[in-house]
Amino acid sequence: MKRFSRQRETIFEVLQGTDSHPTADWVYDQVRQELPRISLGTIYRNLGQLEAAGRIRRLLDDGHFRYDANIEPHEHFRCLHCRRMFDVHIALQDIPTRLPERPGFKVTDFNLELMGICDECQTPQKKGTQDHDA
Ligand SMILES: [Zn+2]
Ligand SMILES: [Zn+2]
Repeated sequence: MKRFSRQRETIFEVLQGTDSHPTADWVYDQVRQELPRISLGTIYRNLGQLEAAGRIRRLLDDGHFRYDANIEPHEHFRCLHCRRMFDVHIALQDIPTRLPERPGFKVTDFNLELMGICDECQTPQKKGTQDHDA
C-alpha cells in the first residue's frame, strides 16, 4: 500500500512543480525518472484518484486531458500558436450578470475558455518559445 501512495505523491509533486498544465504523457515522462517501473496506466489511475480527491483539476483541451495542481478558482487562456495554457483570474464581478437578450436570467457562475496568441508568440524575435513541451 505504501508504494501506491508514494507513486501518487510523486505524481502530485510533479504536477505541483509546473504551471504548464501538462498531459498524462508528460507527467509519465517526468515521474519515470524517479520511479522507472511505473506504467502509464498507473499514472492515469493515480491522476483519477487525485482528481476525485479534489487535489488536482482535469481540463479538456482540444480532445485530450491536461492536469492542473492549482485548484484555486481560475480560468485558462490557451495560446493557439504554442498550445500552452496560462492561468488567468477573472471574478464574477467581471462577468455581465444581466443578459440583454434574456432579461429574466441572472448569471451566478461561469466557465470560460479564452483563446488567442500569447505575448511570446506575438514577439517573433524571441527564439525557442515555440518548441515548448506539451
Ligand atoms: Zn504562445
Ligand atoms: Zn490552471
